Amino acid sequence: MESQPTQLEPGGTNALGRMLGLLGDEWTLLIIQQALQGVGRFGQLMSALPVSNSVLTSRLNLLVREGLLRRNIYQTNPLRAEYVVTDRSRALWPFMLAIWEWERRWVEEHAERLPTMHHELCGHDFAPLLSCGACGKPVEAKDVAAEWGPSGSWERSVPESATRRRADSDPSRTSAGLFPETMMVFGNRWASALLGAAFRGMTRFSDFEASLGAPPTLIAERLRAFVAIDILVATQNAQRPDWAEYRLTEKGRAFFPVVATSLQWGQEWFVAPEGPAIVQHHRSCGEAFEATFRCDQCHEVLTGHDITIVGRDDSTPAREEDA
Ligand SMILES: [Zn+2]
Ligand SMILES: [Zn+2]
Repeated sequence: MESQPTQLEPGGTNALGRMLGLLGDEWTLLIIQQALQGVGRFGQLMSALPVSNSVLTSRLNLLVREGLLRRNIYQTNPLRAEYVVTDRSRALWPFMLAIWEWERRWVEEHAERLPTMHHELCGHDFAPLLSCGACGKPVEAKDVAAEWGPSGSWERSVPESATRRRADSDPSRTSAGLFPETMMVFGNRWASALLGAAFRGMTRFSDFEASLGAPPTLIAERLRAFVAIDILVATQNAQRPDWAEYRLTEKGRAFFPVVATSLQWGQEWFVAPEGPAIVQHHRSCGEAFEATFRCDQCHEVLTGHDITIVGRDDSTPAREEDA
């Protein structure tokens, strides 16, 4: 199952819902981030992350069950196991790169804490440029036309949450707080739906309410949260002064690569029998939009192999007491 897409049930949760259910959890992302760097032993993960034993155990089990990690027994007496990435989790590197770039550029607390990425191919530190896989041109949200596909609807996109709450007995341990703003979008069902709607051009409270089918109090709360972190800006409607409109800010629009790469990953690995949840076209070339990253220095297509992390704190002590 690790290298084959999961075939979804007809009429059930679609790729978008499955993706949000898995990636909308900070621990999951942090564990995968570590595993992508070769940190996969239980003790190493406990040292590297501010995570409790029970949360780490529950996430590792989930990730193995969902095919994002493989449990590899490297010693039998005594039993020692490590968790290694699979094709499915390795394919998350563009998504991780997109989060890194957005948090680095737009979330102030992170500007100095996040490491630099280095492109081995050209020898420069770089920023990833979201581009069209067909024509190679740089792409922003407004350049991509998105429509529901055959398995697409808000109802079928509700995250299937395989993790949390019940499993996490210690509430202070449900978040590491390392990607707080990304998690405000991804870790919340209504927030992710609302942002998706905003990217599709929706601006009015009543439209958000009608199309998402969410309680107005929740919509209002999420809109306020997005305004507070400057992802949306509320503006007055000229015709109806009592109606505020909510538009994406530059910071909000800059989140698009995270949305595009997560969607692409979800639809690649979770396949609904009816067809995709969302169909996207690059407006200027007319081809199906495939999210690709290019290096802003040399403009070559980035691959997971030619990126290295520079200046990372590598003082993680290796503890090996756990199996
Ligand atoms: Zn194109
Ligand atoms: Zn380069």
